Amino acid sequence: MAKKSEGKKLSEELLSNRKNGILCVEEETVSECDGYCEDYKKFLNLCKTEREAVKYAEAAAKKKGYKPFKAGQKLKAGDKVYRVNRGKAILLAHIGKKGVKEGVRLAAAHIDSPRLDLKQHPLFESEEAAYFKTHYYGGIKKYQWGTIPLALHGVIVKADGSTVDVCVGEKDDDPVFCVTDLLPHLAQEQMKRAAGEIIKGEELNILIGSRPFKDDEASDRVKLNIMRLLNEKYGIREDDLISAELEAVPAFKARDIGFDRSMIGSYGHDDRVCAYTALTAQLSLSETPDITAVTVLTDKEETGSDGNTGLRSAYLKYFIEDLAEAMGEKGRDVLSRSKCLSADVNAALDPTFPDVTEKRNCAYINYGVVVTKFTGARGKSGTSDASAEFVGEIRRLMDNNKIVWQTGELGRVDLGGGGTVAAYIANLDVDTIDVGVPVLCMHAPYEIVSKLDVYMAYKAFEAFFKG
Ligand code: MN
Ligand code: MN
Repeated sequence: MAKKSEGKKLSEELLSNRKNGILCVEEETVSECDGYCEDYKKFLNLCKTEREAVKYAEAAAKKKGYKPFKAGQKLKAGDKVYRVNRGKAILLAHIGKKGVKEGVRLAAAHIDSPRLDLKQHPLFESEEAAYFKTHYYGGIKKYQWGTIPLALHGVIVKADGSTVDVCVGEKDDDPVFCVTDLLPHLAQEQMKRAAGEIIKGEELNILIGSRPFKDDEASDRVKLNIMRLLNEKYGIREDDLISAELEAVPAFKARDIGFDRSMIGSYGHDDRVCAYTALTAQLSLSETPDITAVTVLTDKEETGSDGNTGLRSAYLKYFIEDLAEAMGEKGRDVLSRSKCLSADVNAALDPTFPDVTEKRNCAYINYGVVVTKFTGARGKSGTSDASAEFVGEIRRLMDNNKIVWQTGELGRVDLGGGGTVAAYIANLDVDTIDVGVPVLCMHAPYEIVSKLDVYMAYKAFEAFFKG
């Protein structure tokens, strides 16, 4: 073999050497990634809304021996408890050998995704077709939501206070719904609009029916016929839609992408990919961890985390304070000693649109789980910026556990940027850093992740909880 040159030896010793993760792991690990992702795809298909993700997490936790955390309850090492916040967020704790004296290890992911929410008076008829009016939820490119099959998920609270669950468009023989768009032949004026207005907010109307009720007298007979069907199926009247949360989401299922099946295309990877990996890591702890492991799956991240199911509210703080009280500690001490992985996706470099990223500092698919020291935009505004010490600790954790990982920032400086829940948790005096999976087409109805990166996120959360 030819002798390595001095320069080659020195560069191997001193210079950073980023490599595709597939080149860094054994074939066996690649198979583990693929196996793990089969269950992840099932989760994606079952859980398209925050409420469905909470139900899934609660059922999975119960199977692993988690019990509802009751007020005034005392806790000891090995106990597993959970709390559901209004059906839209869930907190789980596995009490460690050291209790909460040294804080907790917290993973925080969100389970809401961009979508179209129905308005309070959604139902209308126009030119003998029936529609639902919507207000989009989260940051979307509105034109992407036209001419794709949509399913409707959510709840309706009736006048008597009873609740009906709605899920239409997921079974193979269910009908689906659709936002219509113009044919190109007649779109010359529309195509002159700015891209953000190709389909305007008030044009995101969902087509839901076209057959009139057979009656000569009534007006809006298509609308009436739809209301008749809804009444038959759910026992509701039009006014019941005022107290409803109905969410239109893409009706398609998660599928493998590529001849090599290396990626998954699905609605809602952001941020169910981190919710699922954090949850399964928490539930897979077969032994009592040293430090208490906590996972929170939260709502409302996509609209800024406000509201009582979002992480700007006090519900996480109250949960930690209750854990502290149950173990004779002060809540604020537990928070100050805690560490958090703010588990959220990051943008992967898209080779078709490379200009929006800075190649040395962006994330790549198949390069593993992404560690993001800071988020924010225009002078890091709105960031929590993890300390060098905490980044160092996470770096050691990743390397010691042979996790394929990379760093990544959300886009190049002064272009855009965005935030996560990290700042709200860091504001509670918790050491916090963003860790998550790189995504292509983020916030589109169909997002893409790599299986290796998904599995490495799971391994990262597992290592974090084990300490
Ligand atoms: Mn997110
Ligand atoms: Mn998002």
